[in-house]
Amino acid sequence: MFPRPAAPAAHWLSCALAAAALLSSPWSHARDVPVPTEELQRRLQERIAQVRPPHAQTQPTASIHARRSATATSQRRPAAPNTAHAAAMAQVSGMAAPGTHAVDGAPHAESHPTHWSYSGDGGPAEWGKLRPEFSACAKGQRQSPIDIRGGIRVDLEPIKFQYRLSGFNVVDNGHTVQANIGHGNSIEVGGRRYDLVQFHFHRPSEERINGKQFELVAHLVHKDPEGRLAVVAVLMDQGKQHPMVQLVWNSLPLEKNEEYPSAVPLDMNLMLPEDRRYYTYMGSLTTPPCSEGVLWLVLKQPAQLSAEQLAVFTRLYPMNARPVQQASGRMLKESN
Ligand SMILES: [Zn+2]
Repeated sequence: MFPRPAAPAAHWLSCALAAAALLSSPWSHARDVPVPTEELQRRLQERIAQVRPPHAQTQPTASIHARRSATATSQRRPAAPNTAHAAAMAQVSGMAAPGTHAVDGAPHAESHPTHWSYSGDGGPAEWGKLRPEFSACAKGQRQSPIDIRGGIRVDLEPIKFQYRLSGFNVVDNGHTVQANIGHGNSIEVGGRRYDLVQFHFHRPSEERINGKQFELVAHLVHKDPEGRLAVVAVLMDQGKQHPMVQLVWNSLPLEKNEEYPSAVPLDMNLMLPEDRRYYTYMGSLTTPPCSEGVLWLVLKQPAQLSAEQLAVFTRLYPMNARPVQQASGRMLKESN
């Protein structure tokens, strides 16, 4: 909705009526000759365009973000197949900015910050009521995470990981620890190429495999040129030290919502387990606004991190996992 100030609206209306009255006569006042109806209509439209307040012609800038988010939720347009992707893209676009958890959450630098959390008043059961654009959290039918079980076993195409040494910044955004990655890392799957944008962690893992939850999960968030999201989930159990996790912990910022540039680059290949077989299904962001249309690729083989590394994250975020959502008969496939 676009509330218009009363005075400008009244002004617009009176001007339009005056223009209509002026042009309602089929006779030109100037030369008393008939003027074609089409010409009268054209003049009327011109006159209206001149007097109409600017915000009646274009969307208010301040509302664009909210509308984009709302598109995938309360104002979903049935004819547009990629509305969920568009909303997800809007989230990703804010991702690199400090203070955002773009793939899993709405940017916080808004006029009415909504304090969603993992427990209490702003907990997962309340997310859908906190803001209209969060309604998918409550009403969505293809939400994440899910308990992954009973998938159809097929020869899934391998995910083509094209990862390389990259610079990165670390941010503690109040919901997780996130690493924003420089350009040049991508995956190819399903004939699409997605660029890696960021990765972040949840404790315990949001995904369950046949009911089992893991100590930690890393979500590697990728985006294609049309804004579709593909998230690779790397489950982690306690074991030997994880070299990449250590690099991220080394760069933990002293302040929340401030990006801290790492002094050394990281090799994203080290994030991946040796076995790249995976589960796949269509789901959503796992934090508000819970936008759907996200391709999930959950690697079957868990990676390992040490007890000390796990303790670092636990100290910051002892529990930042959304409860599992209904699978609702969704197609679920897994690599043989
Ligand atoms: Zn996540």
